[in-house]
Amino acid sequence: MQVIAYGAHASDQPLEPLTITRREPGAHDVRIDIAYCGICHSDLHQVRSEWEGTQYPCVPGHEIVGRVASVGGHVSGFKVGDLVGVGCIVDSCKHCADCDKGLENYCDGMIGTYNFPTPDAPGWTLGGYSQQIVVHERYVLRIKHPAAQLAAVAPLLCAGITTWSPLRTWGAGPGKKVGVVGIGGLGHMGIKLAHALSAHVVAFTTSESKREAALELGADEVVVSRNPQEMAAHGKSFDLILNTVAAPHDLDAFLVLLKRDGTLALVGAPASNHPSPNVFNLIMKRRSIAGSMIGGIPETQEMLDFCAEHGIVADIELVRADEINQSYERMLKGEVKYRFVIDNSTLAG
Ligand code: NAP
Ligand code: ZN
Repeated sequence: MQVIAYGAHASDQPLEPLTITRREPGAHDVRIDIAYCGICHSDLHQVRSEWEGTQYPCVPGHEIVGRVASVGGHVSGFKVGDLVGVGCIVDSCKHCADCDKGLENYCDGMIGTYNFPTPDAPGWTLGGYSQQIVVHERYVLRIKHPAAQLAAVAPLLCAGITTWSPLRTWGAGPGKKVGVVGIGGLGHMGIKLAHALSAHVVAFTTSESKREAALELGADEVVVSRNPQEMAAHGKSFDLILNTVAAPHDLDAFLVLLKRDGTLALVGAPASNHPSPNVFNLIMKRRSIAGSMIGGIPETQEMLDFCAEHGIVADIELVRADEINQSYERMLKGEVKYRFVIDNSTLAG
């Protein structure tokens, strides 16, 4: 069936309304009326072809929430009207070691929610800046938050899980000192989640204007990373630093803040690489630099349930579909606190 979407026809073109085709739901599929979709910085990287291989038209969006519109004959876990979410994954091979462990995000056959190959028209996946999406039930998440919070739940589907997974992997919790670098969509969720996991949280920002705001999000301390004295005061003290910055920068400035065996976990995915860090900064204290990509489906559900229990949602600014291009520019300037979310009911004009 045909639905209205918002996407771009080329890397240098603005996003505009277009009509796309969604497949008829198969036996294991869930058809979802999308109520809201978050705007992730990855959407901008992809639609502007800052990463390689963008197919056009490109319809971004992988922070999808809405209600089940219909289900295939073999779907037992969802029924019409349920509040559900879809994140960055809409398919995977379902039988490799990664899929068996619920780490579909690391399956070599993972199909991302947009710009991945699919038999559906037009041959690559089209994301959540659209009225509906059809997804295999395995990749559909259950939302237990009150319906009134639905728009602010959307960013949990990417920003939430992308920060939750490394926080859990590297043991953020009581007695641990955790840094979060870059207070944008991902970073603000990283602060909220690390705080809720009872870690001591230090926010690193380049923006003096976010100092107070980061404390309100749950940071115990804030460091303006452009200030060398403030940085030096935290030398050799962190168990984990989660780096969400969307641009290349000096990693050594953060490596030296890790204590022995500490980890700098990179989740920001800039268009070009960071300068190579100083090897001695790794050797001297057996420090690690690691990476982490979103999270698997079971841990995404775990994160959503944790957030529902703890009353955690994103801080959002709701925008109309015709404000998406302007929102991209404002995101680049760091002018959003902290995530734009599209009201998909405005796609129809
Ligand atoms: P965002 O909202 O734009 O936040 C990025 C933050 O990084 C900014 O708010 C800013 O925080 C800081 N920053 C410092 N210098 C910057 C610069 N020159 N350019 C841009 N940001 C700068 O972006 P996001 O949606 O949180 O995404 C962050 C990155 O994570 C993107 O590269 C995105 O593609 C990537 N990502 C990765 C995964 C994964 O699975 N690993 C998943 C989702 C997104 P301050 O003002 O506080 O300094
Ligand atoms: Zn994302």
